[in-house]
Amino acid sequence: MIQSVETHATLAEAQRAMGSDAIFMAGGTLVMRDVNAGVAATRIVRSSDPVLADIRLSGDGVTIGAGVTMATIAAHRDLAFLAPVARSVGGPQIRNMGTVGGNLFAPHPYGDFAVALLALGARVNVAGQIGAPRPLADVLRERGRVGIVASVHVPRPQAPGDFGFLKVSRIKPKGVSVLSVAAHLPRQGGRIRGARVAFGAMGPMPLQATAVERVLDGQALDAPTIARAAQVAVEGLDPPTDALATAWYRREVAGVHLKRLLERMVRG
Ligand SMILES: Cc1cc2nc3c(=O)[nH]c(=O)nc-3n(C[C@H](O)[C@H](O)[C@H](O)COP(=O)(O)OP(=O)(O)OC[C@H]3O[C@@H](n4cnc5c(N)ncnc54)[C@H](O)[C@@H]3O)c2cc1C
Repeated sequence: MIQSVETHATLAEAQRAMGSDAIFMAGGTLVMRDVNAGVAATRIVRSSDPVLADIRLSGDGVTIGAGVTMATIAAHRDLAFLAPVARSVGGPQIRNMGTVGGNLFAPHPYGDFAVALLALGARVNVAGQIGAPRPLADVLRERGRVGIVASVHVPRPQAPGDFGFLKVSRIKPKGVSVLSVAAHLPRQGGRIRGARVAFGAMGPMPLQATAVERVLDGQALDAPTIARAAQVAVEGLDPPTDALATAWYRREVAGVHLKRLLERMVRG
């Protein structure tokens, strides 16, 4: 039973107000579901800190406030590389409310936007933590113990064709993921340098496909390389069985969809 909803002017105050009886709420697309089901924490903490809504471009990337919604990203002229990812999250109502910060902590099979951020090598600014932003992979691993996320810093792909995202769902256009996959493949002299590939719904949280990255790194993105990458797609992943698909099915199709994504990136 909810006893209070508190809105704090700054993230620092909101962070201080947190406790074991409280949950931070952003867009509330998931938190409110728990409230309606009677399983939410007793206190809801919110913040009106403007940093949450800020989108700031810098030389190499963009810093996106954790409270920025999927709809805002889909419509932002400087975030075209992320627009298809944002548009893949839920239907219009979910995109109007659902935020970047909430997507980082959304349980399986959600987290499509986090998959893209992981592939892009995003780093996370946590409220009240001084120093360098934290790698997203660490934050995803430590869900529940991280604190309030203020923003994410996302490196921008140097060429539009360096980044690709694919979501596989059963219900079009707004079903949740059987799996999602994102790849950031910067190229120098035709060779991939610093490949990053991530899968969603293939584990308890979005996961980096390090075996795939090893296969791709230093290679040209051609048919033999893509075939080798597809062969190792599920190495290190741990897909669950749920109402959408069995773990077996997810394992079987992960390589197929990775191949489709990489072939699409070749075609440009
Ligand atoms: C019908 C439906 C369809 C959906 N479809 C999709 C989909 O296709 N793809 C997808 O990825 N997701 C989907 N979702 C899940 C969800 O809507 C999105 O992931 C959304 O981005 C969550 O954001 P939110 O702001 O609403 O999160 P909230 O509900 O406000 O919060 C979710 C969780 O994140 C935590 N949190 C929120 N902000 C922060 C922060 N700044 N710092 C720390 N913790 C924070 C909350 O404490 C809570 O634990 C769907 C949900 C519903 C109900």
